[in-house]
Amino acid sequence: MRGYACRGLTLSIRRRECNSPRLHHLIIIEPQLLKSSPLSSRRPVRVLALAACLAAAGCATEPMVGEPLRSPVRAAAPPLLSEVRTIVIDAGHGGHDPGTSHHGLKEKYVVLDIARRLRARLQAAGLAVAMTRDTDRFIPLSGRPAVANRMRADLFVSVHANANRNRRVSGIEVYYPRTSVVSSSAQWPPSISAAEVGIPSTTVKQVLWDLVLRETRVQSRQLGSAVCRAMERQLQAPCRVVKPARFVVLREAWMPAVLVEVGYVSNYAEAKRLGQAAYRDAAAAAIAAGILAYIRERGAQHI
Ligand SMILES: [Zn+2]
Repeated sequence: MRGYACRGLTLSIRRRECNSPRLHHLIIIEPQLLKSSPLSSRRPVRVLALAACLAAAGCATEPMVGEPLRSPVRAAAPPLLSEVRTIVIDAGHGGHDPGTSHHGLKEKYVVLDIARRLRARLQAAGLAVAMTRDTDRFIPLSGRPAVANRMRADLFVSVHANANRNRRVSGIEVYYPRTSVVSSSAQWPPSISAAEVGIPSTTVKQVLWDLVLRETRVQSRQLGSAVCRAMERQLQAPCRVVKPARFVVLREAWMPAVLVEVGYVSNYAEAKRLGQAAYRDAAAAAIAAGILAYIRERGAQHI
């Protein structure tokens, strides 16, 4: 056990080996300490101070002290991106939830078709692919990343189509998970022992969640950028943004995750293109090219 003093806050932190090759040590805060500490306050300044303190104390900046290391658990290790093998594709909406509907197109059908084509492209590249839905059925939002988490998938890609009251708006958009938005019901990643991190405060859970998934969030942004670049190049359509979002479907994924808005069905020209099988096929090919480029950038030899 060691104590760290950060901006007037004193925390007792014990360390143990973390399974991630990047996060060298996992920090566990004693739950009873939190109950009696001012950290249970939700004031942002406290949260920021805690985050800064944990980041400073957490990752091998100090020699290991205290408890002996435990052996890493192989099955709990987060994915090495040079070993990306399994991708979960999520076709948005479905069943009683049609998504957005314009110009005779229903989002749930457009994105399911693109998702199926994307699956075929990725399978052809030698990747294992699962879909959250392969038919017109409804799946609750949090159930979608849960599929990828259960499978220990290496990447999660959600496919949607966009709409805007301003019918002139068009283009591709790509989102990745924003930090500091985990829900209180979110399951801890497998590298964390839930029993040991039995923390009552959602605020503190948020800080720890962000720390544990920090590298994954960076990779999500890189994946989003690669997909955006490939779509812009191959579809000759502008990729308007690659930016963080609070979407439930992204924030609870343990692996790099992106949500791709393939275009605006509220825009006549874009709806017309999305209504054509050839364009949906091209969109799937472009998303696949972005994913494969990202995997190669991470050093994969097998793609
Ligand atoms: Zn949607």
